[in-house]
Amino acid sequence: MRVLPVVVLVAVACGQARAPAAPDGSPGPSPAQPPAAVTPNDFLARGLPTFVLGTAGDDRADQRIAGQVALVRGLLFASAPIVTDTSIAAARGLAAWPPRPVLYGGPHTNTLVAAIAPTLPFSLGPGRLVIGGEAFAGDDVRLVAVVPARSADARGPATPELLLYAGTGDPGVAEINAPTVSRGTEPIVVADAFGPLRRGRFVLDAQGAVTAELGPPARRIAWRAVERELAGTKGRAPVRILFPAILPKSRHEEATIEACMRGLTTVVRRLALAKPTPLAIYVYPDRRSKASLTGDGGDGHAVPAARVLHVLVADPAPAGALEGLVAHEGTHVLAYEAWGSAGTPLLGEGLAVWVSGRYAGLALSAWSARLATRAPLGELVSAHFRRLPERASYPQAGLFVEAVHRTLGLAGLRALYGASADTFEAACQRAGAAPARLWPRP
Ligand SMILES: [Zn+2]
Repeated sequence: MRVLPVVVLVAVACGQARAPAAPDGSPGPSPAQPPAAVTPNDFLARGLPTFVLGTAGDDRADQRIAGQVALVRGLLFASAPIVTDTSIAAARGLAAWPPRPVLYGGPHTNTLVAAIAPTLPFSLGPGRLVIGGEAFAGDDVRLVAVVPARSADARGPATPELLLYAGTGDPGVAEINAPTVSRGTEPIVVADAFGPLRRGRFVLDAQGAVTAELGPPARRIAWRAVERELAGTKGRAPVRILFPAILPKSRHEEATIEACMRGLTTVVRRLALAKPTPLAIYVYPDRRSKASLTGDGGDGHAVPAARVLHVLVADPAPAGALEGLVAHEGTHVLAYEAWGSAGTPLLGEGLAVWVSGRYAGLALSAWSARLATRAPLGELVSAHFRRLPERASYPQAGLFVEAVHRTLGLAGLRALYGASADTFEAACQRAGAAPARLWPRP
């Protein structure tokens, strides 16, 4: 089961400056000339970024933005500064900005983005993005863009070149650094629930203003939905299970739907969710169609920002492959909605493996006997996790979560879930167990 990697910027040499295009804080290219087609990977390769958190949403939105930034920072830019949106007075112009600002959140969740909104070459808000002369509606639209520097004019103050991760949702940035959104190789990506929908770049229009030029839309198809309900301890939520409309109804369809629902019910039960969130499961008949529509040909992946799972059809038998896959991927969506962002892949993937009770078709108990060596907790909690083969990292993550649950219960597990790599040890102590007790040194 190949599941969502957290970040895509692995090609970037962390913190290593590669011939900076401009000194820190300088405006970079002048808007009088055509803006360079700078990609996120170009931007991040220039040196250590400064993460700018949006704090204009409610507590839930603010926590989720901070969680996403902590995750990316912990994996790739451990010494990068984090500042809040309110610490930068955009009206002061370039002098107000930190080097290489990476902004998280749209104008509705980030006051700095709101302050410069009139100067941006697109408009973004709850449920709507307008860019390149086109409108994208819905709360699952995400935008990743390197916005060119600009000089002060009637529309607003000068701003440096900046990298923006924003969505139309609240806050809409869940796993926005995943390759299923942007691989960092395009100056502009507009993504929907399936993945990159439009790619583009910034150019100058006839009046010399910066504007977005979008490429052709990615392929999308019609879907036929079947509705079910998922029960929590205190409320129910609709679940839509969708099949390509062009395909005739399969004789396995009812069994497939039941397997999906059993997988989700396992998530609700193991996480003791009071009221699950509505979600959708897209079922693909084969790997090629899943890859062509989402860019990810793996067995399954989750898009938490859209509350959507994409899964390949698989054995729908009780305790079979499909039920386990949906339990795993459903955890990524339902835990995000209920608990917030996982602070590390160790807990994000570990929780999903533990909930499903298996990895790659083998029960966790079988993995416990099969793993020849165990990595030290310090490695599992760090960026090293993604460098291990998945068949080593995922079962160990599941076993670690099992140990946390056994030792500290669900409340303790939840307390560790959001801890980032650099706060992890302290979070273990606070929750009531030394790390060595949870994961004895190999
Ligand atoms: Zn996963």
